[in-house]
Order: sequence, then C-alpha cells, then structure tokens
Amino acid sequence: MPRGKGIDPDWLREHYPRMTDIDALLDDCERDLGWRPSKQAVYVKANRMGLRKEPVAGRGDRAERTIRWTREPEMEAWMLEHDHGQRMDDLMAEWRKRWGFGISRGQVNLFRASHGTQRRNSHGGGRPRVPVGTERESKDGYIVVKVREEADVPMSKDNWRLKHVHVYEQAHGAVPDGCVVYFADGDRRNFDPSNLVAVPRRLVGLLNDPCMPHWHDAESLQACVALAEMRSARHGIMARAPRTCGVCGREFVPDAAHVEIGNVGIRTCPACLAAGRKWKGMRSYGRRAELG
Ligand SMILES: [Zn+2]
Repeated sequence: MPRGKGIDPDWLREHYPRMTDIDALLDDCERDLGWRPSKQAVYVKANRMGLRKEPVAGRGDRAERTIRWTREPEMEAWMLEHDHGQRMDDLMAEWRKRWGFGISRGQVNLFRASHGTQRRNSHGGGRPRVPVGTERESKDGYIVVKVREEADVPMSKDNWRLKHVHVYEQAHGAVPDGCVVYFADGDRRNFDPSNLVAVPRRLVGLLNDPCMPHWHDAESLQACVALAEMRSARHGIMARAPRTCGVCGREFVPDAAHVEIGNVGIRTCPACLAAGRKWKGMRSYGRRAELG
C-alpha cells in the first residue's frame, strides 16, 4: 500500500468539494486510486490544500466557518479545557456561547482526533461495536470487512477494508503499486483468490473500452491486460509520431495536451490551431479511402 505517497491532489481537488459523505469518498478513493486513506488524512490534506465541501442546502450540521486549529491557539486552548466528556450537543452549545458562532460535529471530531482526546469506548450514539470479521456492503456494492478491533488512525475506519483487496493481499501479498484488484469473472461476490487479479490502473480505461474482448476468468483477463498494454504502447508511439500539418504542410509533433485528451490522430499543427485554422480532411477522398 503506497500510503506514504499521500492522496493524489488532483483527485482530491475534483472529488472533495462534491462529496456528500466521507465514507463514500474513501470508497471512491479506494476504487480509483487503489488504496484507502484514513479520514483524518483526507481532512488534513484537504485543509492544507484549502479545499472545502460545497455547501449543500438544508444540511443541518454544517460548519459556519473553517477553523484551522493550529492557527487558533485560543480556541484550541478553550477546547482542551472545556471538552471533558459532556454530550456533543452540550459542547457545541457551550462553544457557540463562548465564541458566537456554531461549530460542527466534524470539527469537534477532527479536533479530538488531532489532539488524541477522542473517547474510544464511549458510544454516544455511535454504531454499536461489531466483532472482527464482520462484513457489510458499501454504498457502491462492494463488501467491506472489519480486519482489526481498533483503527490505527483514531477516528478513521482503517480497520475496515474492501474484502476483495484484503483477500487478495492475504493470498498474493501487497497489491502492486499502481494496481487495482479486479474480480476476473465479474462477480463481486466471488472472493476466491484465483478470481482476484491486480490490474494496472492506467489500463482501466482501455480495459473498459467497448472494442476490448470480454474476459470471464483470470486467464482471459490477463490476456486482455496484455492486449491493453500493447494498445497503450501503440497509442504512445502514435501520439508522439511526427506528422504533416494538413493546413500549412509543416511537419509537427502534437502537444502533450492534445494527446492526453485522446486526440492521437490530430492533423493540425499547434500554430494553425492557435490561428483558428483546423484541417477538415479531404472529404471525398477520405470517404473513398474509408470505404476501400
Ligand atoms: Zn499548420
């Protein structure tokens, strides 16, 4: 697990502001990036990057302002002094009385997590504790399993893991860097280790392409992965190949930006594009060539 690497900032910038629920965000992260950060890691990183959740109309428990505890020593000191095990609602009311604005549960939780003052065994309305090995279904249909009694990072759920990733690691060792675990037969309930295959994340798009053959087991999936590797390599070669501009006739290599959005076959040079001249193709010849 590439935990040290941290969460991809671009991914977070895209997903954090639109998230509705931190657990769902972590599920998405695990699916897209292949590993599950702790909640605290997400909050801390988002906070450092200055990201905020987009306001949702009608949400009751929303922070009225962002508190960066490290920059508010007075508030921090107040919290350390006044957060002594009363009910969350009471603490929030005391806070409002003292500081003149509301504080959210999330902010209190984050404070407690970062100050080591969370109360693990008091279940003030939280979920009842379930034994290790308990499974439940995540919102997007994957099974998650409780693998340890306590989370390593307080307030996180890092003691719950996607079952297929967990089973894969038990059977085959750590998921290779940059890979996601696939159910080879497509059945999200088949946790047989032979059905779990690590697939490079950069090939996921190609694997989902409609012109890719269908796979139905580990062997056919591996074959598709090999095919996707080849297509990816061919794409890279074609994307960097010099070509002749259809407008001005000069030879050019496309901008990386064009290649990235999949425009491998671009036939207009950057200068002509910038001038608003785009090669439209030789319509009649082009069509005849397609037919022939
Ligand atoms: Zn040109």
